[in-house]
Amino acid sequence: MEPYRFDRSEALFARAKKVIPGGIYGHQSPRLLAMGSYPSFFARGEGSHVWDVDGNEYIDYMCSYGPIVLGHRHPRVEEAARRQAEQGNCFNTPTALWVELAEYLVEITPFADWTVFAKNGSDVCTWATMVARHFTGRRKIVAAAGAYHGTHAWVSPVPNGVTPEDRANVLNFRYNDLEGLTRLVEEHRGAIAGVMLTPFRHDAAHDSELPAEGFLPGVRKLCDDHGIVFILDDVRAGFRLHMGGSGELFGVRPDLSCYCKAIANGYPLAAATGRGNLKRAALEVFFTGSYFTSAVPMAAALACLQELKQSGGIEKMRRTGEMLRDGMLSQARSHGFEVTYSGPPAMPYMTFKADGGKWDRITAFCAYAATHGIFFHPRHNWFLSAAHSEQDLRHTLDVTDAAFKVVRKQFDA
Ligand code: PMP
Repeated sequence: MEPYRFDRSEALFARAKKVIPGGIYGHQSPRLLAMGSYPSFFARGEGSHVWDVDGNEYIDYMCSYGPIVLGHRHPRVEEAARRQAEQGNCFNTPTALWVELAEYLVEITPFADWTVFAKNGSDVCTWATMVARHFTGRRKIVAAAGAYHGTHAWVSPVPNGVTPEDRANVLNFRYNDLEGLTRLVEEHRGAIAGVMLTPFRHDAAHDSELPAEGFLPGVRKLCDDHGIVFILDDVRAGFRLHMGGSGELFGVRPDLSCYCKAIANGYPLAAATGRGNLKRAALEVFFTGSYFTSAVPMAAALACLQELKQSGGIEKMRRTGEMLRDGMLSQARSHGFEVTYSGPPAMPYMTFKADGGKWDRITAFCAYAATHGIFFHPRHNWFLSAAHSEQDLRHTLDVTDAAFKVVRKQFDA
């Protein structure tokens, strides 16, 4: 098979750069990929497959960086969204879906008594810190160093445009280091409002780390002992690992949980759920947005979550994820590579040990895969969806076998 070409993508990107800073910014910027080996613009998606503007077809292992959990254009979600769109989307008040979806989220989330909605993960993460501060009357927020909790100034990974004052009340520790966190809490006794953590460590350009035995329950106890609000940032992992929130998979229940990506199978929606004792603080912290109540994404979310639950989508992603992991690990061995394949099976990430913290081999590997119809990312965890089939997996493994072979040749020299 001839490697893909990206003529239309490249022409569009040249136009984009003239009128949009960077052409494409943020996590979708081609700078983070292997330039020349990836499309910059997609045109269409169906199930586990996507097509770029040059007509190249891919099996999609990024799933729009998380939102696509049932597969692109899932019929039940599309039908629910279409029906609501026929009635209208944006009104002076919410629709009944606002209530129905909140009831559903409270029903499926064991610790939660209430829900709020917004549009982006950044919205709900920042708001959760404000609720923790208002509830405790304290200022400091603890987060793991290198963790991504959105674009807002208190936590943006890039310091440009951020003042020291924006960060003044943010403390860091190393994910999984319960002793380090305990020391921090002792040092700042009575000053910490909230601890925000992702359910597992999934920082970009880094091997993922599952929570160490006892880490999350230890954080829970520390928060309880010191009156600190435990905020789970489940924006990326939520509804891919467990219907009740990813804490359920790891044996911990937070006080507040932030969701976004997979909640509505690609429609724009974020949510936070919380315990009853925080409901008053949640009411008293100002929170609103032009599109927070839009009905179409809520119809999509209800259909998405119900379908995920009824069809056992999470279990399916785990199984296909395990097939991918087992297949790739065995291929890596047979080609003589030591790789680190990390994260839960539905959200894996792979690095080559010989890359030594750089990305040469994994970039060449992903570039070969992308130009042969398999869309992985060299520096960001991948995502399975419930639409990935065994046939997809077989085809994927044919391509990854060839990719390992190509990397072997390139890096033997
Ligand atoms: N938290 C986590 C863990 C995320 O992965 C992201 C998005 N990648 C965010 C927060 C921010 O979400 P958004 O991009 O929707 O603002």
